[in-house]
Amino acid sequence: MNPQAIAHHLDDEIIWDFVCHKLEFGENLIVRTHISLCAECAKTLAVFEAAGGELLNDINGIEMNDDALDLALARIELKDVEIPKAKPSKSEAFGFDLPATLSGIEIKNRHFLGPNVWIAPIEEGKNKSQTYLLWIKGGQDILPHTHTKREMTLVLSGGFKDGDNSYNAGDFVVCDDSISHAPIMLADEDCLCLVYQDGPIKPQTILGHLLKPFARI
Ligand SMILES: [Zn+2]
Repeated sequence: MNPQAIAHHLDDEIIWDFVCHKLEFGENLIVRTHISLCAECAKTLAVFEAAGGELLNDINGIEMNDDALDLALARIELKDVEIPKAKPSKSEAFGFDLPATLSGIEIKNRHFLGPNVWIAPIEEGKNKSQTYLLWIKGGQDILPHTHTKREMTLVLSGGFKDGDNSYNAGDFVVCDDSISHAPIMLADEDCLCLVYQDGPIKPQTILGHLLKPFARI
């Protein structure tokens, strides 16, 4: 994977929620994985983490005002920020090399939802899985759909087109109920994504649409 090719990044709010430990397991995994592949978001994270430390130093029990973060960021951005390099892949599943952030993560058996699609839930301890590897064969299209809640997708291999946008390995996209779309997988390469869905799977969602005929998921 070429980190330079990443075109779709985490937004600042998600990175800040990551710094503040506000993300669910699957969201956290996706954000960590994108950051491990993306020098640009790694740099933003480093700035935010430093800002968080500055804020803690500054607060001293005083209630934080709205300017505190901006002031801290303004100071931090003057400093050199070391950009971590993308880590090599270490893990493997179903024939794909996976980013190092997924090594040690338990991936359950995959379920084929037809010849061109499978999902493999990611173990989340006592919680019901909301995080999946999703594989779609190259050239397969997805029927138009919307999302009921927030759904995060990180492309790990292959890619897809959605309207005028193309998403390739390393790209991150978040969808919600304001978005209606019909992604088309790139023709020449199978697509593997890491997907997190906020809340139970609903028929209207991309995963729900795919899973509808399969009661066991
Ligand atoms: Zn990024």
